[in-house]
Amino acid sequence: MGKVVVVGSFNVDHVWTTPALPRAGETLSGEYATGPGGKGFNQAVAARRAGADTAFVCALGDDLGGQLARSLAAADGIDLRDQRSVRPTGTAGIYVDGEGRNSIVIGAGANAELSEDFIQAQRDTLATAAVVLAQLESPPDAVLAAMRAARAGGAVALLNPAPANATVTAELKAAVDILTPNETEFAALLARHVGERVDGDAIAALDQARLHAFCRELAPEASVVVTLGASGCFVSHPAGALRGDESAYYRIPAEQVRAVDTTGAGDAFNGALAASLAEGGDAPFATRVRFATRYAALSTERHGAAAAMPRRSDLAERFG
Ligand code: ADP
Repeated sequence: MGKVVVVGSFNVDHVWTTPALPRAGETLSGEYATGPGGKGFNQAVAARRAGADTAFVCALGDDLGGQLARSLAAADGIDLRDQRSVRPTGTAGIYVDGEGRNSIVIGAGANAELSEDFIQAQRDTLATAAVVLAQLESPPDAVLAAMRAARAGGAVALLNPAPANATVTAELKAAVDILTPNETEFAALLARHVGERVDGDAIAALDQARLHAFCRELAPEASVVVTLGASGCFVSHPAGALRGDESAYYRIPAEQVRAVDTTGAGDAFNGALAASLAEGGDAPFATRVRFATRYAALSTERHGAAAAMPRRSDLAERFG
């Protein structure tokens, strides 16, 4: 089993569960809960609980949020490599409605300080990785350095291009082996890089050959996994990445579950995919994606983000 190194954000999440998402000028009552989050940390917890030896590279403030990150990483057995920042630890305000939909506001804080120099200083940790996983809640230079370090060390460079309003430069796209946008992020990438305007909600219904053509134009050298929420995901490989009887493109349906909170489903998926890829061996890519699909489905049956990440044993119990 190889190691997963996640490079990314840690936030303290403040979560309100309300009957409906608040609109401008509206005041609602809701149930309040707080806990850890940030795409980076969520994905690190998912990778770890999905079974991988995991390190997490991030930036934290010298405050209660930073202490929370340290104690939670230790509790999950995650090797924390934190850059200390004078800014506060990142925060997120999350509203979840009765149907499990969410609205989120992020205060990046220390996450915005994660530096290319700090990533370079982690070269010994990065050199041990089988998979390096990053997202776009960290500065572009740091993300690019992490993806390049992955390639240099022979690890898989896995980029979750989230959130959708973040920029993916041509340089970054070229440094990545696998790209995992959700529908909204995929629509944003297509608009920016392919000049195609497709509504995110319409992507799941598009013809597969057309989706494949979009993926190939978007990232000619990378495998692309577009996650489609309750519709599962779509996978598109460049011809050079195919082995044996693998197909260039295919869909994998979602598991039927009773979702109560889809916050962090994408993070669960990415962490689990990284863990499955780090296992090595000769399992086809589709098998690893199916594992991630099951893992993510199970995470939607519980409230919260990092706290809702299942353990590998939960998966075996649920799906056999
Ligand atoms: P994000 O959280 O980034 O928006 P998605 O909503 O696409 O990501 O979810 C990621 C993956 O989680 C999906 O590909 C799917 O496998 C799983 N998933 C998400 N929502 C559900 C759901 N309601 N039922 C079953 N699986 C789900």
